[in-house]
Amino acid sequence: MKDSILNLIVDEKHSLQELLQKMDQGAKGILLVVDKHGQLQRTITDGDIRRLILSDMPLNAKNIQFGNKKPVTAKLDTSSVELLTLMKETGVNQIPIIDELGRPVKLISISDLNDRILLSTPHMGDLELDYVNEAFQTNWIAPLGPNVDAFENELVEKVKGGYGAALSSGTAAIHMGLVLLDVKPGDIVFCSSLTFIASANPIMYQGAVPVFIDSDLESWNMSPEALKRAFEDAVTTNRLPKAVVVVNLYGQSADMDPIKDICDMYNVPIIEDAAESLGATYKGRSSGSIGHLGVYSFNGNKIITTSGGGMLISDDAELIKKARHLATQARDPAPWYQHTEVGFNYRMSNVLAGIGRGQLKVLDSRVEQRRAIFDYYEASSLSTLIDWMPEADFGCSNRWLTVGLINQNVEHDVQTVIDNLSEKGIEARRVWKPLHLQPIFADCKYFAHSEDLSCSDLLFDKGICLPSGTQLNKFQLDRVISELEQACS
Ligand SMILES: *Cc1c(COP(=O)(O)O)cnc(C)c1O
Repeated sequence: MKDSILNLIVDEKHSLQELLQKMDQGAKGILLVVDKHGQLQRTITDGDIRRLILSDMPLNAKNIQFGNKKPVTAKLDTSSVELLTLMKETGVNQIPIIDELGRPVKLISISDLNDRILLSTPHMGDLELDYVNEAFQTNWIAPLGPNVDAFENELVEKVKGGYGAALSSGTAAIHMGLVLLDVKPGDIVFCSSLTFIASANPIMYQGAVPVFIDSDLESWNMSPEALKRAFEDAVTTNRLPKAVVVVNLYGQSADMDPIKDICDMYNVPIIEDAAESLGATYKGRSSGSIGHLGVYSFNGNKIITTSGGGMLISDDAELIKKARHLATQARDPAPWYQHTEVGFNYRMSNVLAGIGRGQLKVLDSRVEQRRAIFDYYEASSLSTLIDWMPEADFGCSNRWLTVGLINQNVEHDVQTVIDNLSEKGIEARRVWKPLHLQPIFADCKYFAHSEDLSCSDLLFDKGICLPSGTQLNKFQLDRVISELEQACS
């Protein structure tokens, strides 16, 4: 699970037994033998070891002579195409990458170069399994338990977010938020238009009526101008919203201060949908901690994951207490099963909360890695074809996905580019189709950024999301870059 190749490195002093163990732990079917300067001498494969054992070499044998057949190596600046050619020519499937002093720094496998590259995949750290094992050993498999409490405490401590209720998904957290804010059938709820459907589905669960608000081009998030006009309209029709769902798209916070000022003026609470922006900041504060209620998601594609899960946070201790109560079937404190209101089965399980605790420990490094991936794309030749999603100066994005708009140098429309890439084994995706354009919301009101500009339409029309998972290495990113260049022309 470790990214490092340190556990593949051995020297000639290792016994056969130790080499066997190393081979097993490294799980790559290959070991790298270095001399006392750390320079790569040769590689040992599974097959080499097998032959030694078959030749009756004792397991405690040391100073084993493997001969000095020079290994096939490459330098860090070797391109993925060159590496593939080298693999084909030499018939090896794994090539150590060495630095200028001949020391191994990476191991590249043919699968790194050939396998399908996905948009965003789960990336576990070193501690998740320990927490899960603890849950097994103590038989805390039932939902709730010490990992759930600890995950809630550790997360709100991390984001300075007051109190947290760990739930089964981000969608459930938004739904709980609406229930807590007393959103009922026929009520109006404002919601960002440029977002995943999960931001708005819970509004429908409550039988409420969504009104969609456009983005601006500075943050790609809710336009304060559009929001202002929506409120002015709501006043004239005497139908103020019960809540405003503000989304922080692709890891970047919305411009919360002006949005909050407008909502405060009308005394309407904000549910901050930070499903994509955990680890990002707005004016030094954690994204998700600014609205009346904040929502995180730990779905498999998010920056950290519990395979599925969510969290509702708030500074209001009573609200979160109520959320935990409602999310566990709203059972009254009576000796028998007694209920005075409708509840939900929305709690996170103790096993999954264990994964979350481990993932939280690597959140900072995941943000760093996602931002480094963005920087790598931005520094590449792709910048002549793509205008990147801007990072507003009010905060720090987690760059969950690297996203941009194809520009006039691209000869195809964005769907053709994505289809071309897919044929080369690379997954890219469209930017979310705005909710005001969805058939299911055809009858809903929509407020564009201005009379003659709907920003979300434009962002959907030109937007492309690139592979951004933190397990991607430089060679895979290079492959995306060169294939995308070709896919554009
Ligand atoms: C992923 C996501 C959600 C939903 O979270 P789940 O945990 O998948 O239910 C909500 N809003 C946005 C913006 C998302 O990206």
